[in-house]
Amino acid sequence: MAEQTQVLRIKRQETPDSEPYYEEFEIPYLANHNVISMLMEIRRNPVTRQGKRVAPVVFDANCLEEVCGSCTMVINGRVRQACSQLAEGLNGPATIEPMTKFQVVRDLWVDRSKMFAALMKAHAWIPIDGTYDLGPGPRIAPHVQEFAYLFSRCMTCGCCLEACPQVNSHSKFMGAAVIGQVLLMSQHPTGKMNLDERLDAMMSEGGIADCGNAQNCVEVCPKEIPLTTAIGAVGRQTSIKWLRDLFMK
Ligand code: SF4
Ligand code: SF4
Repeated sequence: MAEQTQVLRIKRQETPDSEPYYEEFEIPYLANHNVISMLMEIRRNPVTRQGKRVAPVVFDANCLEEVCGSCTMVINGRVRQACSQLAEGLNGPATIEPMTKFQVVRDLWVDRSKMFAALMKAHAWIPIDGTYDLGPGPRIAPHVQEFAYLFSRCMTCGCCLEACPQVNSHSKFMGAAVIGQVLLMSQHPTGKMNLDERLDAMMSEGGIADCGNAQNCVEVCPKEIPLTTAIGAVGRQTSIKWLRDLFMK
């Protein structure tokens, strides 16, 4: 019986500025394996279907359990984590491409640093006075903890930016993930103290006013984070702040 195989059509790009191209690889079908282990198999023996030896495919991956977000790619047209895409779900030849809303570093590896820059701009952390024992923190009601937990699962993967029509080369829109983190940090009593700084970032260029409310982000988020709830809530907070600033002048 002929050996079952898996064909992977991979979009490749040698440098951030070079032209992309596709190469096809055929490897033994590996039941229960994920796309990362298939890419590792190709890296072990980088020979195309046409028998040409090529440079190993470059990709990013870390935790391999859909927590770090680093292996996010476009697989058969859908943005997702490669570590949780199993061979069984591919149903035949698969096209693997890098995300399009981020600069390609090489092959499937993209530079997601603009998301981290947005988190810094939005002050998406809670300041502490030091690393010594500060004693018990403020008490937080269980329903607030549960609500905050939903947003704490963000792994900065970039799926929401990839799916968002407002994130493009003509816009500086920071995307939905950072809006979710602004809402998260403001749930904590200490974090609330920096709410104004976060809202200032949300009211600046690339902030919440650039959201077109197409809601693609919430459809693709692998952690099912209620991003449109965050967009609505932060939108209301910025409107109130805008009025307050107006009357405080
Ligand atoms: S609601 Fe639409 S425009 Fe706004 S962040 Fe989500 S996908 Fe982008
Ligand atoms: S909000 Fe969801 S899709 Fe966006 S970066 Fe976070 S985990 Fe990824």
